[in-house]
Amino acid sequence: MEKEEKVRYSRLKIGERKEGFLKEDQIWQHIHSFFYHGKNSSTYKFGFFKALLETVSDVNVHNELTFDQVFRPFTKIYWNLVVHHKLWQSNNTNRMASVQRVIEEFHQKYEIPDEWNFDRIETAQQDQLIRKVKQAGKINVIGAMFGDFDESIYSFNIKEEKITMNELYVDFFLKFKRILKDINNYQLAMFLEKYNEAEKVSNLLSTVELVSQRKSLKEFENILRQAGVHSCFYCGKELKNNAHVDHFIPWSYIQNDRLWNFVLACQSCNSKKSNKLAPQEAVDRIIARNELMVCEEKYSSYFTNYDEEKILTSYRYSEANGFKHL
Ligand SMILES: [Zn+2]
Repeated sequence: MEKEEKVRYSRLKIGERKEGFLKEDQIWQHIHSFFYHGKNSSTYKFGFFKALLETVSDVNVHNELTFDQVFRPFTKIYWNLVVHHKLWQSNNTNRMASVQRVIEEFHQKYEIPDEWNFDRIETAQQDQLIRKVKQAGKINVIGAMFGDFDESIYSFNIKEEKITMNELYVDFFLKFKRILKDINNYQLAMFLEKYNEAEKVSNLLSTVELVSQRKSLKEFENILRQAGVHSCFYCGKELKNNAHVDHFIPWSYIQNDRLWNFVLACQSCNSKKSNKLAPQEAVDRIIARNELMVCEEKYSSYFTNYDEEKILTSYRYSEANGFKHL
């Protein structure tokens, strides 16, 4: 995109996406142009694309995502890149990217230690930071991505803080998620490598790959325990203090942490399963388990936009993405 065009897009308050069917190769064309054309002054587009990939399985029945949904992983990604890994996010050594500035200011104001990753910050503070990053993202990110995809990827409304994804892109993202995530991480790493000193970019690809992974899943273990889970989801053996929290659909596909995708497993089953898909009969069981939990008021906030289709679709698409069965 030309500079003036970029500015125009970033100031848009409402974006209506172009109607009409797109064939898969036309979407690929948009993807190629997103990754390989245009000059980037910061890492935003890769950070936002990463956040979109991580939240695409959370859309509601109208394919909508709230800004809060998308800017949570976006903020987490940037906190970890900027504070935890000390990576500079713009192509200009004198001008800090505004999201980086928001994060640095917050980091200093509350004297949060550098070695803390995002998950260690207390919830109320996380929410406060997400609100600030969201304000910066409203100007710099939402409209720009809309323009980068030639107005085909989503509609958006800044005031309503809402994105309505093109259904064709939702399917496309789920279908090619693994490879899209990899190319996006690669492009993000290429940018970071260019504008950061050598010692900061060692192991950069794995840093970028794991930047949004949680350090601890204890929170989910506690909830499942309280919900009465005392045995391994896969073999039924009783769990004592040795429970492992397992992503039913592998984390490397789903890329986010939702209660509906967590089960408790013994060590042996957890390590056997690793990055693989559970057998079909287990799919029916996790759907039944979720069915019970979703009815309980106290868990409802963990099941936003959940329905059994989410499990079925993710399972089917993980197969399509090359994940093997146990
Ligand atoms: Zn087991």
